[in-house]
Amino acid sequence: MVTAAPPTGWIFDIRRYSLHDGPGIRTTVFLKGCPLDCWWCHNPESQSPQPEIIVREHLCTQCGECVRACPQEAVSMTPQGPHTDPALCTRCGECVPFCAPGAREQVGQPYTPQALADILARDIPFFDQSGGGVTFSGGEPLLQAEFLSAALAACKRLELRTAVDTSGFAPWQRLESIAPQVDLFLYDLKVQDEGAHRRFTGVSNQLILENLRRLNDRGSRIIVRLPVIPGLNDTPAEAAALGSLCRQLDGIQRVDLLPYHHTAAAKYQRLGREYRLPDTPTPSPDHLNALAQQLRAYGIAVQIGG
Ligand code: SF4
Ligand code: SF4
Repeated sequence: MVTAAPPTGWIFDIRRYSLHDGPGIRTTVFLKGCPLDCWWCHNPESQSPQPEIIVREHLCTQCGECVRACPQEAVSMTPQGPHTDPALCTRCGECVPFCAPGAREQVGQPYTPQALADILARDIPFFDQSGGGVTFSGGEPLLQAEFLSAALAACKRLELRTAVDTSGFAPWQRLESIAPQVDLFLYDLKVQDEGAHRRFTGVSNQLILENLRRLNDRGSRIIVRLPVIPGLNDTPAEAAALGSLCRQLDGIQRVDLLPYHHTAAAKYQRLGREYRLPDTPTPSPDHLNALAQQLRAYGIAVQIGG
């Protein structure tokens, strides 16, 4: 009998001892690829489903080894250092081992569900002591639905508690198929106004809102996460729309307000991408408290921070 090979997942980070991605101590697995293009994305290395090459300029000695190593002739030396032509680079990673100072790094590595489970199993004592578990995040983990499903099944064989952090932008069948193996959904709702949602994320929010209602109706436990971006989604009208939506859905345990911050700016620079919100400030504690109060008036539990 021929057995199918296990699905391979592309993962760009596995972060242990996280306290912000669900209850207790978590190990968070970050999957590559996202169908949204949020202006404030703090994991730009997650957006492409393929592995990517980043360059830490402060480590580069301008030795030129990457220029010589690249089979595509995608790298050229400039007075500012090596420049990689994104139109020529196939992201093969062949240049990475030639970079002795470690300035070049491949973001995104392949894992089988079992290889991942073997890593996650190391943290079982912390999960047991704290009521924690494993959180799958991204990117959008549902973009790698086959791998996600297999990885969740491997977690359940280890009797681990599971959470999935999702934008909700996926065919309902994908959410429905993994839902029985997910103890908690961290559901990112970004903007209620559909036009603004299209503008700032690149997609409509209709599917996202429909999937939220369907998850709620099937009895899933949900924490809604709102990234608070000053000037984009923090108006009283936005909070009112979110409050009246959450009031209707009894599976929503809480709304978490996640204040925008600038820590991703350096990542955009390393990837050679434009950072679209350089002047947007972090919301003040007073403003976050006012938003929280407005949402609590709808009978919703609200937490500032994840
Ligand atoms: S191999 Fe590394 S250190 Fe040398 S030029 Fe390329 S990026 Fe810089
Ligand atoms: S990843 Fe491959 S194609 Fe891209 S610069 Fe490195 S060696 Fe060249």
